[in-house]
Amino acid sequence: MSKSNEVVESVEAVFDNVSTPWLTPFYQQLQNNFHQGRFPHGLLFTGSGGIGKYKIAKQLAQFLLCSNKQANDACFQCHSCQLMAANNHLDFQLLAAEKNKSIGIDQVRALTETLNERPHLGNNKVVVIKGADQLTESAANALLKTLEEPQGDSYLILLARTHHQLMPTLLSRLQQTHLHSPDDQMLIDWLYQLGYQVSDLGVLRWFQNSPLALLNHLNALKQDASLDTRRQCVEGLFNVLFQPINLFAFAQLIAKDVEQNLLLLFHLLHDIHKLKLNHNQLNQDAIYYFALPQLQTWQTQLSLKSLRVLSAEILKTRHLLMEHSALKKELLINALLIKIKNKFKES
Ligand SMILES: [Zn+2]
Repeated sequence: MSKSNEVVESVEAVFDNVSTPWLTPFYQQLQNNFHQGRFPHGLLFTGSGGIGKYKIAKQLAQFLLCSNKQANDACFQCHSCQLMAANNHLDFQLLAAEKNKSIGIDQVRALTETLNERPHLGNNKVVVIKGADQLTESAANALLKTLEEPQGDSYLILLARTHHQLMPTLLSRLQQTHLHSPDDQMLIDWLYQLGYQVSDLGVLRWFQNSPLALLNHLNALKQDASLDTRRQCVEGLFNVLFQPINLFAFAQLIAKDVEQNLLLLFHLLHDIHKLKLNHNQLNQDAIYYFALPQLQTWQTQLSLKSLRVLSAEILKTRHLLMEHSALKKELLINALLIKIKNKFKES
């Protein structure tokens, strides 16, 4: 499994004991639906990585498998609940897509076979598929069959960032819910309860749709302050412009997580762009507000046209590297950084 996928995995897996208040109303609604006998066999949760899709799926699985369901949750005491807590429940199956790899028909067949077996405990079975947008067409078709002829009380919960890659026939069999991020106040209160007083609103914008990733970021910063990727981006660009010898070091740093770091670089230029259009002013919740003086200097050194060209180049490189994992990352990023450096030189 690749690095950045591990990050997302760990983001959702590590926080078993962290509350997710923005998901509570939805979770309660799901339970009400269950108690009222209006619960579908196939569910799809969409939303950004770090919003808590897996967390709510696992909570729901625990509830569905619990042999002593309460009005508002699982009982957390029965044998089934204990097995879930120990990650050792045979009636709960997880299939997780690997980054840049599709989920093939063999994987799905193995899964549907276990769905056809009798439950080991109780009456229900729950299968969760992470990265359901990576199902191949034949795999999706195999899944469709189980949804059309559900065996007893088996439930299928699919997780994906968006529904766009899912086959319409599969989608039509699923009850889809898009999970939304909490507003700033709820986020700030939630973080405060977890021991973080956030005054830098830019970090909220950066992790806007990924509260658990934000918490992960703050936890990491507490351990090692040098892991502040936004600061690394500002320093990296500064070095590219004034200490060319460090260009490759910055490229290597970006290459560690192309998806995130090139987006951060894009946002850096975007904030410079905003300064240029807005009389050298920036909103306090801009991602790079903390580096305002430096950005104010840079905005005088780049034309609007250069900013547009470079922004497009960054997104192009990011797209290319995300689609083709075999490409020489550092070389492409190096070339991109040289283009940025040259645009600064022009003015
Ligand atoms: Zn229970």
